[in-house]
Amino acid sequence: MKKNILLFLFIFSAFYNYAQRTKLSLPAIAAIRPSELERDLKELTDDHFRGREAGTPDELKASVWLAEKAREAGLSPAGDDGTFFQFFSLQRNKISDRTTIRINNESFTLWKDVLLPQTAEANVNAPLLFLDVTEPSQIDSANIRGKAVVIMASREGLNLDISLPERRYPGFVLRKYSSTLINNGAAAIIFIADEAGEKGWQAVLPAVTRGNYDIEGGPNAVAKTLPPVLWFHKSAESLLKQPGAMLHANVIVERYEYPSVNIVGTIKGTDPVLSKEYVLFSGHQDHDGIRTPYGNDSIYNGADDNATTCVAMLAIARTFKAQPSKRSVLFVWHGAEERGLLGSKWYASHPTVPNHSIVAVMNADMIGRNNPDSAALLGASPPHMNSRDMVEMAHEANREGPKFLIDTLWDRPEHPEYFYFRSDHLPYARLGIPAIYFTTTLHDEYHTPMDDASGIDIRKLTRMTQWIYRTGWKIANRPQKPRLVENFKLER
Ligand SMILES: [Zn+2]
Repeated sequence: MKKNILLFLFIFSAFYNYAQRTKLSLPAIAAIRPSELERDLKELTDDHFRGREAGTPDELKASVWLAEKAREAGLSPAGDDGTFFQFFSLQRNKISDRTTIRINNESFTLWKDVLLPQTAEANVNAPLLFLDVTEPSQIDSANIRGKAVVIMASREGLNLDISLPERRYPGFVLRKYSSTLINNGAAAIIFIADEAGEKGWQAVLPAVTRGNYDIEGGPNAVAKTLPPVLWFHKSAESLLKQPGAMLHANVIVERYEYPSVNIVGTIKGTDPVLSKEYVLFSGHQDHDGIRTPYGNDSIYNGADDNATTCVAMLAIARTFKAQPSKRSVLFVWHGAEERGLLGSKWYASHPTVPNHSIVAVMNADMIGRNNPDSAALLGASPPHMNSRDMVEMAHEANREGPKFLIDTLWDRPEHPEYFYFRSDHLPYARLGIPAIYFTTTLHDEYHTPMDDASGIDIRKLTRMTQWIYRTGWKIANRPQKPRLVENFKLER
């Protein structure tokens, strides 16, 4: 009898040890808790953060909240000087209120009577020339050198079946004509607003009055001097068509510098060799601040964009704390994404870990809305795919876990949103680091004050978090780092 008990104890303990080992080799998926995702999301999207606009104290305040949460999750600081923070400077160029615009002797009030959609200096005195661009031959044949060319804006030939069409309309119209006109020597381009232009006028003001942002060395860091582009209301049409009328434009640009910040934390890997390599989890902490009201609300809390990923990264950090991987994991909550992927451009070129030690970047942006059963993976097909290994692991993780139906349209080069080019994996991919981008794509409340926590599907957010985690876990434990595809070349 005693012998039987001993045998039983032996078998039981062997089984128990085996079970423990097996458990440890599986991802700590249970550490991703919907209740914690929801709690963190509500905190980060509260109105007191005032929409976390880059370069303002609101972004800095949100970054302190994130760093504290990262510490609680068990991350070690991996920013500058033993902190969670990597500060960098935003360079902002903005059209000055001292700018003056006159037609003959009549002054036009900046932003109210005249809209300048590009931030560039100019000092131009030029005769106006009205062009009927419904006659394409006029653009080339007319003697437009040195003239301020006046055009009736038109949506003809433009695909406006895109997100935020009103805000993007002036830029689209400009691109349609600018290179032909500028190459032919136009001194300025003047658009007379059509119906779409009048509708878009208010919509573009928040962006154009704020101006351009960049990091040091970037193309927008220094103000350019360019032939000015001006939008006038339809009411100015007869004046603008008057023979002999003159444009006098003195566009002055002011320069500002502000701090922005990346939050960086890490969990060291368990393997003596592989722990020198990092798998980077990426998202952005900033959003659009306070701007155009919709109804009573003017605070752009950016719940989907991109508080969802911020809190997903905290949950993923907890899983790696519960069960570290062989490689080290690195979490970067980028600043100033909405101002042009500036935090990721900065981190990619100024990493706080040794150069070439980042073996993969898993970025996510907007992961909590739309159809509960579908999601998109970008960087998953040519020409955007820079690592087949990574994509295969992501698909495998999806099959083992959430089983999303994968939307492949958004990754196509002909997709009108060019979505691949609009989030923080891009600067890393451009530097030759394997990178993929998880998203549940756009929705009607994108970049409006209605993107609030109440619109987030917590169950879907949980499954997206699990998917990203499962993919990262595979990458972080595999003996080989993900390979790059050969001849990777993006179409823009
Ligand atoms: Zn975003």
